[in-house]
Amino acid sequence: MRKIDIFDTTLRDGEQAAGINLNTAEKIEIARQLEKFGVTIIEAGFPASSPGDFDAVQRIANMVKNSTVTGLARAMKSDIDRSWDALRGAEQPHLHIFLATSPIHMEYKLMKTPDQVVDIAVEAVKYASKFFPLVQWSAEDAFRSDKEFLVRIINQVIRAGATTINVPDTVGYATPAEYGALFKYLKENVTGIEKVKLSAHCHDDLGMATANTIAAIENGADQIEGTINGLGERAGNVAIEEIAVALHIRKDIYGVQTDLKLNEIKRTSQLVSQLTGVVIQPNKAIVGKNAFAHESGIHQDGMLKNRETYEIITPELIGATVEPLALGKHSGRHAFSDRAITMGFDLSDEKLNEAFVEFKKLADRKKEITAEDLFILFTDQQIQYKDTPIYKLTNVQVQYGTANTPTATVSAIVPTGESVTVEATGSGSVEAIFNTLENLVKGKVHILDYRVSSVSKGRDALAEAVVNLSINGQAITGRDTAQDVLEASAKAYLNAVNRHLVNDYVGNKVTSI
Ligand SMILES: [Zn+2]
Repeated sequence: MRKIDIFDTTLRDGEQAAGINLNTAEKIEIARQLEKFGVTIIEAGFPASSPGDFDAVQRIANMVKNSTVTGLARAMKSDIDRSWDALRGAEQPHLHIFLATSPIHMEYKLMKTPDQVVDIAVEAVKYASKFFPLVQWSAEDAFRSDKEFLVRIINQVIRAGATTINVPDTVGYATPAEYGALFKYLKENVTGIEKVKLSAHCHDDLGMATANTIAAIENGADQIEGTINGLGERAGNVAIEEIAVALHIRKDIYGVQTDLKLNEIKRTSQLVSQLTGVVIQPNKAIVGKNAFAHESGIHQDGMLKNRETYEIITPELIGATVEPLALGKHSGRHAFSDRAITMGFDLSDEKLNEAFVEFKKLADRKKEITAEDLFILFTDQQIQYKDTPIYKLTNVQVQYGTANTPTATVSAIVPTGESVTVEATGSGSVEAIFNTLENLVKGKVHILDYRVSSVSKGRDALAEAVVNLSINGQAITGRDTAQDVLEASAKAYLNAVNRHLVNDYVGNKVTSI
């Protein structure tokens, strides 16, 4: 069967989405899971865009062994040099260079003639090939480019040493028939196309990213690019899990395969959602909470008689099986660490001990600790800030009565190490807490968005709060969990402030293909 390579850009294109800012530890955690999921290539970031991005790409390149790691670069020497420094430690260094080729981008953004654009692209690919065994070249806004010009420039970059040619629909404008036809046209007209990989990159502005990507595969694409949960700028990129499952369930039609381990889909999706703070819509294909829920009586009746009456995908296929027995107050450290291993976590003894302490605290207040609770507990240990002075909440207290003005008192350890207590009022309990925290931290803070949801089911479920703040004009998302919604909200607020303080998230959103 023909094999399709999967190029994951959750950490680059996905991370560029509004309000997402992953720090290095979180990026590493996602990369680890992507490797487990079996993606062919992980685009870890844009090394020349910021020191934080450079660091994340370098660490991921040195860590990941079973997937190829790449970074994005503009078609310029300085970007390529910087990327080489970040990626040289990788098993198979791969570089992703892009340059716009559509008339509108060449004229208004690059202010270059088509001839100049060809020269710049060739120059960059030649230079990159001196260092990198694998060089991917992307024609930014390829779909809106002149087809003959595309053939001309691709001919040249292949001759210059490119090993993969990516043909993005950068603005999500294509329809499936057109996008497929473009791949067919390139296959038929580019010299040496059989020596390189041809790649599709689709955005979902018109809701056609999945259909367009499939059309590219049907017309000769060897690689597809996408993100987990369809994250990405504007309406997002194509969701890799949708492509993966579609190719599997309808292999009778497509006759292609990937190296993806489909039973890692649920966990990958859950991790990305948790760390980015971007909730998955309940009816999202494959990974939505309701993707396997059958509500109607007729459906339920049919399902009981034979699951296949209404179910084309089983939860088992994507690793969304019924969770194993929950842990509780009396579970020992042994059962706890066993569970960490079966859930796929590889924690050091020190982190495991800390997680166990947190677990015991939680078990005192909550009857059953579910798989979802554990997932958050273990992940939190993996991504914790170590050795960095940050704000730590020690106590939050709110006085609320329908007839009184809510007052919050917050105690916290501040970055200087002192313990500080502040108090403020608000028109509601949450506002009172946020007003108090604003007095505690330095800087101009505005609340852009705030959301609370429950992690698992039941009245004692953990609360997860996500707060999107603007701190001195910069948008940052913070999140945290607690058993109480007010405590979770206060912790999420401080999490955003700490991210701003540590400043190792990758906030430089330069450009996108
Ligand atoms: Zn893109």
